[in-house]
Amino acid sequence: MSFQTFNFHSSIMAGIQALGYVTPTPIQLKAIPPIMQGQDVIGLAQTGTGKTAAFVLPILQRLLKGPRGRIGALIISPTRELAEQTHETFGDLGQKTGLKSIAIYGGVGMDQQIRKLRSGVEIAVACPGRLLDHIWRGTVDLSFVDVLVIDEADRMFDMGFLPDIRNILKCLLRPRQTMLFSATMPDDVRRLVQEVLHNPVTVQIGRSAPATSVSHTLYPVKQHLKTALLIEVLRHTETDSVLVFTRTKYRAERLAEQLDKAGYNTASLQGNLSQYRRQAALDGFRNGSVKVLVATDVAARGIDILSISHVINYDMPDSTDAYTHRIGRTGRVDKTGEAFTFVTSEDASMVRAIEQVLHAKPERRTLQGFDYTSPAPVSSGFFRPQRQLRRRAV
Ligand code: AMP
Repeated sequence: MSFQTFNFHSSIMAGIQALGYVTPTPIQLKAIPPIMQGQDVIGLAQTGTGKTAAFVLPILQRLLKGPRGRIGALIISPTRELAEQTHETFGDLGQKTGLKSIAIYGGVGMDQQIRKLRSGVEIAVACPGRLLDHIWRGTVDLSFVDVLVIDEADRMFDMGFLPDIRNILKCLLRPRQTMLFSATMPDDVRRLVQEVLHNPVTVQIGRSAPATSVSHTLYPVKQHLKTALLIEVLRHTETDSVLVFTRTKYRAERLAEQLDKAGYNTASLQGNLSQYRRQAALDGFRNGSVKVLVATDVAARGIDILSISHVINYDMPDSTDAYTHRIGRTGRVDKTGEAFTFVTSEDASMVRAIEQVLHAKPERRTLQGFDYTSPAPVSSGFFRPQRQLRRRAV
């Protein structure tokens, strides 16, 4: 099956060719026909399946025939990175269409966004908070939107964006085509679907998709030996780009420093960074100058870099969904990847839950020559007497 079967306009086919796409991915095969017919669609698929192009291509086709200079399609994204990447996909696939898109997110000044909005765009890819800022200031006009995409809906709800989304929906006046993409279908998402979508067609890509192209390995280790083990694992493994997950921003920052000292070009991606530094970290990771990126779950949302060969869970994720999302960063279309997870004795129940999702027991691997018995260092802060701590706080 090729892209010819969808009868896209030649300017869109030129974009598909420029990106080197030859055959549509399963989600594209299933979702593009109903979207082209104007139906509402629920896409149950995670990142890495080609879901972005599944809605970008039909939207470009639809907008080609429409009026220019006013927003006809709105895509709501949970994070800046995902918004930026979706905006880039519109730019890449639509490079010969003359259609213009804007990415709207917080953490950067509003003026540039306002200027671009005034200059006239047909597509807006927006995070909810900043979009509402523009709505309240009257700097964005959504009255012509007749295609809406709610992307990564489950993550949007996890991040508490539901009220914002409801407020945005109130500003959409026209009858419209609505698409909702989500990796999972928790009750909140199901309720929104019932309220907002009309007779939707559901297209689903099995949750096992990443598992088939990703191998899973557990590394049992004590908490205090994780960094030393990670450095040894990196030394003994042939890798392309490596994405490491930690539980907190602070741990991401500190681990990145330690890996950098150990000689790996490393950056951290976490909520404490300015937008400029986030973009620099992502650009470095994408162009290969940063080999290892240490990230938190929220910060890593939407990272779309094909060269990620390894995802390493330095800290165990807090849900099987988070595990699925993390490992979805490797083994992307037509690639294989490896997922390594460091497990301590406290992670036993999560290991069992992951095994259930995978329908398999991942290999437990120990690294030859690594000293697993090394004692925990005595932390100076940990043993500081209470009185001294209080005096310092005064
Ligand atoms: P997504 O699931 O939208 O995050 O896409 C994951 C990756 O797959 C992106 O790097 C896309 O550029 C790539 N991709 C999307 N569709 C295709 C296709 N038909 N053939 C090859 N790569 C694709």
